[in-house]
Amino acid sequence: MMELTPQEPKATLLVVDDMPANIHLLATSLLEEYEILVATSGEDALELIQDRLPDLILLDVIMPGMTGHEVCQRLKKDPRTQGIPIIFITGQNEESDEIEGLKLGAVDYITKPFSLPIVMARIRTHLELKHYRDLLENLSYLDGLTGIPNRRRFTEHLDFVWSQAQRQRTPVAAILMDVDHFKAFNDNYGHQAGDECLTCVAKAVANTERRTTSLVARYGGEEFICIVPLLDLQEAAGLAERLRMSVVALALPHGFSSAASHVSISLGVASKVPKVGESWSALLEQADEALYKAKQTGRNRAFLAECV
Ligand code: GH3
Ligand code: MG
Ligand code: MG
Repeated sequence: MMELTPQEPKATLLVVDDMPANIHLLATSLLEEYEILVATSGEDALELIQDRLPDLILLDVIMPGMTGHEVCQRLKKDPRTQGIPIIFITGQNEESDEIEGLKLGAVDYITKPFSLPIVMARIRTHLELKHYRDLLENLSYLDGLTGIPNRRRFTEHLDFVWSQAQRQRTPVAAILMDVDHFKAFNDNYGHQAGDECLTCVAKAVANTERRTTSLVARYGGEEFICIVPLLDLQEAAGLAERLRMSVVALALPHGFSSAASHVSISLGVASKVPKVGESWSALLEQADEALYKAKQTGRNRAFLAECV
């Protein structure tokens, strides 16, 4: 299971309780292992979370003003905070509160007066579970063969980038890439070699465009796509050439390609300022048509959508 080594940043816990004595007891015991944030009301807790997202919340149920249950409900509604594990701290004989808390999405509850070693153990367990949940979520966005983002991740990224560009009236560039004569590569060198080739090509193109706002993903079998916001067609053409060269530089021999003596890609380049209500499929269609032209005119080259 996850070990927190000294180099790793400490996990941050938020302790919410209206009784300062309770907070003091918990906070002093947890301070060595964790970064501690405290709030003495539900309202304060919600405000604090706006500035800083904790990794886990210890939440008192009974508080004047907003109750722990209300705080939990609010946090579960907000996509930014809904993944944070919440452990309720309840008084004795409040079994119905506990059930209600779990129904609201809390991961656990602890009854006062609590045993510190048990509280510590539960916190550790829930932090580990969260760590593995996050890991799984990341995995579901990665392509199993090449390790670069998959089509699902690409769709979510383009949805986001496209709607942002729509509001700001700025361009989005799409570069569609396809390995040349890859069927012949597979047929002659074997499927295993084909897989290795795809992995090398994927890494090469992914490493060529690393802006945090961009995304390079596996689009299909031997097709990759690069999405870059704020790039016009000429700038995108420059990037496409660098992508093409990154694959040429791999110098993977391909003796059965009419395009080159090594593995190469063809690229279709498009850039569009989205119109109101327009979907991004128009951008991809342009890139796809351009890719088709790149194939027709000899492969191992980029073609710009404007010339289609
Ligand atoms: P073109 O230059 O026109 O793109 O020709 P091509 O041979 O690359 O295109 P085609 O679409 O005919 O063939 C693509 C091949 O890619 C066929 C398919 O078996 C292979 N392929 C798709 N996904 C994978 C994969 O994950 N691993 C391997 N090894 N091959 C794959
Ligand atoms: Mg293809
Ligand atoms: Mg191909």
